Amino acid sequence: MRQQIVPGVLGEPERGHPVRRIVLTGFRGTGKTEIGKILAQQKKVQFFDTDSLIELATGRSIPDIFHEDGEERFRNIEREVIATLPPADAVVSTGGGAVTDPANMERLRRESVVVLLFADIDTIEKRLEDAPRPPLTGLPLREEIAEMMDRRRHRYNASADLCIDTSGTTPNGAAGTISTLLQNGVPAAASRKEALAFFRGGRIPGPSMRRLEQVLNDPPDDPLTRVLGVAGYPCAHSRGPYLFNALFSLYGLNCQYTWFEDPDIGKIMRIARNLDVKGLSVTIPFKQDVMTCLDEIDEHAARPIGAVNTVVFACGAAIGHNTDWLGVRKPLVPMKGARAVLLGAGGAAAAAAYALVDLGMDTTVLNRTPQKAKDLAERAGCRWAGWDSFDDLRPDLVVNATPLGMAPDLRSPLKEDQLYPELTVFDLVYTPPVTPLLEAAQRKGCRTISGTEMFIEQAREQFYLFFGIDVPPETIRKYLT
Ligand code: NAP
Repeated sequence: MRQQIVPGVLGEPERGHPVRRIVLTGFRGTGKTEIGKILAQQKKVQFFDTDSLIELATGRSIPDIFHEDGEERFRNIEREVIATLPPADAVVSTGGGAVTDPANMERLRRESVVVLLFADIDTIEKRLEDAPRPPLTGLPLREEIAEMMDRRRHRYNASADLCIDTSGTTPNGAAGTISTLLQNGVPAAASRKEALAFFRGGRIPGPSMRRLEQVLNDPPDDPLTRVLGVAGYPCAHSRGPYLFNALFSLYGLNCQYTWFEDPDIGKIMRIARNLDVKGLSVTIPFKQDVMTCLDEIDEHAARPIGAVNTVVFACGAAIGHNTDWLGVRKPLVPMKGARAVLLGAGGAAAAAAYALVDLGMDTTVLNRTPQKAKDLAERAGCRWAGWDSFDDLRPDLVVNATPLGMAPDLRSPLKEDQLYPELTVFDLVYTPPVTPLLEAAQRKGCRTISGTEMFIEQAREQFYLFFGIDVPPETIRKYLT
């Protein structure tokens, strides 16, 4: 039976309750070791520093392991050490790069609260000036700090339940701030009240609403439970909450995923920020509109795709990503360089065009409204043509990114006599899993790929952005059925 972990690290070990594990992540020089020791003393639990455990286990210093055996060997030892950490009654300080390994994140996040410590570059440089450091890049110190922090930024964000800026504070001051947040959580009572009223006005099913009430009550059952959700209008039909909540149970994450259904994305984002939401999946019709509500957008989502389907909230910022294109790309990797036709020029088509071009495919966009095909083709760096050109193009691959075939509109974008056995047909529509287009393609002996494959991969990438954990595709497939 799973041990009961006392919420909010309020338990006392001598009373026989295990105390929830606190894990500190962050770049070198953010104060993890000093702050961790103070927290462990305050909570009367053991302190573990993964770098010290590695040095103890190998009898060598971290710089020596890096220098003599390389980073890969170091990461293997680090992974083994992290696997041996106690599941509760402990404060753990992790090495700066531990967050880059999904296996570490899976272990460190389980039944734990992860506190990301960060600081500005001047503070880190000052703190590291005299410290021996493993040669990660060979760059001068300041440049190395800037490059490594930038490279790992999304991994740090994924690790964070709480974020603490340690620049301009003492280890005691930072430990005090962490203790207060562990007791009270981040959102103010007024923000929880506002969110509760918002969700009560929506179409959230009874059992999910009751769980949300426990999370948002005053006082909440557990102040550290993080909320996530799908933002759309309408989105009450989304199965996302069932999938994500099942994954939270599987990985021991203290989170609740729900429906943010409202015609105003500005309102959704305001409530999400006030509630210190961990992340949002964004769906129709907000993938473009949400971009004006964000602090930052990643390089893929910003210009070439021009749409965001994932928002990660960390360290006071809302950062937009697009995982749709990865969902299209993954099943098509074996077809690199093929001749492709893309049907449609909307949001999903923009992600698909980016994926096809990224795979070096000779891609032509066909769309009902030709001007939109032209615009998308120019943005993605591929060709466009009129809707009737399909037969002349005779591609190796056709990707349907129109809603044709989505229940209840069970039409096919292509006639059966336009299909041939050498053609691969990828229908992004996933309700129903086998669309009329895929049925016709199967009859003609084509290779077919269902929209479910895209859904699985884009959800998997989302989970990775939210938590740094790499969920096997089979696990998501199992929970979808
Ligand atoms: P969208 O932005 O509204 O774009 C729809 C596109 O389809 C537009 O280019 C539109 O042409 C075209 N279209 C609409 N009705 C049509 C019709 N009757 N005949 C011909 N073309 C038509 O929608 P979206 O977000 O791209 O979504 C498109 C589909 O992708 C949806 O069915 C959705 O289920 C699917 N999708 C799947 C996943 C997944 O994970 N599998 C993820 C995202 C989306 P005009 O430009 O002429 O209006």
